[in-house]
Amino acid sequence: MKYNVIHRGDEISIDLMQRFHQLAGQHGLQLDEQSPDIVLSIGGDGTLLHAFHQYSAKLDDVAFVGIHTGRLGFFADWKPDEVEHLARLMHESAASGNLQVVKYPVVEIQITTESGIETHLALNEFTLKGVEVTLVAELHINDEPFETFRGDGICISTPCGSTAYNKSLGGAIVHPSLDAIQIAEIASINNRVYRTLGSPVILPKHHHCDIYPKAHQHVLLAVDHLNVQRSDVISIRCLVAAGRKVRFARFRPFPFWSRVREAFIGYEPK
Ligand code: NAD
Repeated sequence: MKYNVIHRGDEISIDLMQRFHQLAGQHGLQLDEQSPDIVLSIGGDGTLLHAFHQYSAKLDDVAFVGIHTGRLGFFADWKPDEVEHLARLMHESAASGNLQVVKYPVVEIQITTESGIETHLALNEFTLKGVEVTLVAELHINDEPFETFRGDGICISTPCGSTAYNKSLGGAIVHPSLDAIQIAEIASINNRVYRTLGSPVILPKHHHCDIYPKAHQHVLLAVDHLNVQRSDVISIRCLVAAGRKVRFARFRPFPFWSRVREAFIGYEPK
């Protein structure tokens, strides 16, 4: 089995990476930065987002797994003291040729500008915000005008990202076995002139939404942790990426709802 490690860069994560390399050598795992089967992220959820974007062109071949070196992460759910156990399980799954993975949907973002169309994938979400002034944008669903938005911004999240920024916006938590995207408003202005639905909306696959910011408006586009300011955006189409999913290696069961309970409630129910 070929692997690579992406780490957060702090001392604890670097030490753990070195320990993992030793263990991997003992278990016959090969370091391969170009074409790994497994990408081990050591740090936090943000580190796994970096790993996802580094390997976003190879999603069919790579499976991710995360060790957290801070507090328990949503993606980074292995503890540092489990590193030996993890290396052994990787060896066993290589020996049996049976790597268990779960596949979750990601959102595709097609940004049309004066110079063409750019496509991106997000693991958590895409957000569009105004810069200096509030965002004004037309939102269409399946090519039909839906609403005129005015406010801080719009967040389009994946089911995996539904527990991240989307949750802070009052969006629903969506099980990642559902092929869907969620539209959540960021501080919309609602009065007699501007009116938005005000509720988060969940679109199934094969549906899409298009956002048309006011012409030449200065906007901030964020794909997960990556941000860029633009003023040449004509429209942005968001949809469940067809045929492209993120794969997480599952060396042990950790059901999504247990993960949600541990991350946000933090105690065993009575
Ligand atoms: P980061 O790594 O510090 O992440 C910010 C927080 O979001 C961390 O506590 C992290 O554990 C948590 N997080 C990330 N993905 C998650 C997920 N899928 N489910 C549950 N929690 C998750 O910062 P970063 O590297 O800049 O990460 C970017 C992410 O931060 C974005 O994708 C966005 O979801 C999140 N974010 C959240 C808010 C908010 O909640 N108000 C605002 C901006 C960004």
